[in-house]
Amino acid sequence: MSKQDYYELLDVPRDASERDIKKAYRRLAMKYHPDRNPDNKEAEEKFKELSEAYEVLSDAQKRAAYDQFGHAGVNGQGGGGFHGGFEGNFSDIFGDVFGDIFGGGGSRRSSVQRGSDLRYNLDLTLEEAVRGCEKSLRVPTLVACETCDGSGAKPGTSARTCGTCGGAGQVRMQQGFFSVQQTCPTCHGSGKVIPDPCTDCRGHGRVEKVKTLQVKIPAGVDTGDRIRLAGEGEAGSFGGPAGDLYVQVNVKEHPIFQRDGKHLYCEVPISFVDAALGGELDVPTLDGRVKLKVPSETQTGKLFRLRGKGVLPVRGGGVGDLMVKVIVETPVNLNSRQKELLREFQDATEEGQHKHSPKRHGFFDSVKKFFEDMT
Ligand SMILES: [Zn+2]
Ligand SMILES: [Zn+2]
Repeated sequence: MSKQDYYELLDVPRDASERDIKKAYRRLAMKYHPDRNPDNKEAEEKFKELSEAYEVLSDAQKRAAYDQFGHAGVNGQGGGGFHGGFEGNFSDIFGDVFGDIFGGGGSRRSSVQRGSDLRYNLDLTLEEAVRGCEKSLRVPTLVACETCDGSGAKPGTSARTCGTCGGAGQVRMQQGFFSVQQTCPTCHGSGKVIPDPCTDCRGHGRVEKVKTLQVKIPAGVDTGDRIRLAGEGEAGSFGGPAGDLYVQVNVKEHPIFQRDGKHLYCEVPISFVDAALGGELDVPTLDGRVKLKVPSETQTGKLFRLRGKGVLPVRGGGVGDLMVKVIVETPVNLNSRQKELLREFQDATEEGQHKHSPKRHGFFDSVKKFFEDMT
């Protein structure tokens, strides 16, 4: 089970307004609310995820952090330490969106939970993406507390079953005509209380830590690829399994090459003399310079394909090509002697224009005909 993107979860675009996010959350949360789906574990999970997504996206600051760093940006960042304040704020958002339709409601959670998945947005240069590389990532996350081994109880002590709810984590409350199931106020749904909390993690069993991970990026990755590091997400709570870390690849723009899947593209300027007479061009590839023979009478925009000079995709298949587009450059900053030579050249070719500049010649013929037809 991977942690879904908050925007996808709420089914809203990334630039959705605050109002749209609220509307989307209200619609989905009504559908998955535990009171409407009794004993439906899946709905309950979904409801929790939705609430978490809403909690982040409805807060401008958290949303900005999420947009930039993904789940890693908003986990354990809420100031309250544990859980980023999500559990603590829960009744606030709930009341804010629903008023008292459900009489307060509440989230249920079990004491042992899998840790959250994290996302890490990794920017790579084109060379790194094409050749593969090794990266050192600094990931803010929650790890199991070493002092208490993740139990939350002071070494030598252990957790006890909660007396208020008898370990169920839920209590039933009478509210007017309704009997409402609520999270146990004593154990907050865990069904257990820790009489003697560990002082290092304040009884939470997990502590915030910036982990440094060495990650091998395989050759041929591209923007949008995701690398899963199993078990490198947040530690689970009270001995639950750890989540996964997803490294989201983004390849930065390159000053020379554009990439489209396995092919690379680049534009190479060429003088109009070389274009006319033909010549040899120095063309860059990712493996160094190569010579490209340009035939005489080459027009601007012509594409030359260098086979095998593209990218070998990470998922296999053949290696791509490098497409070189030659752009004829009009000379600038000419001195009078150079200008004179060009005028001389112009005079020398004027006569046989239809032969030397067939396109221009043909074009002006069409234009002439066009205006004649109009009258
Ligand atoms: Zn501890
Ligand atoms: Zn309890």
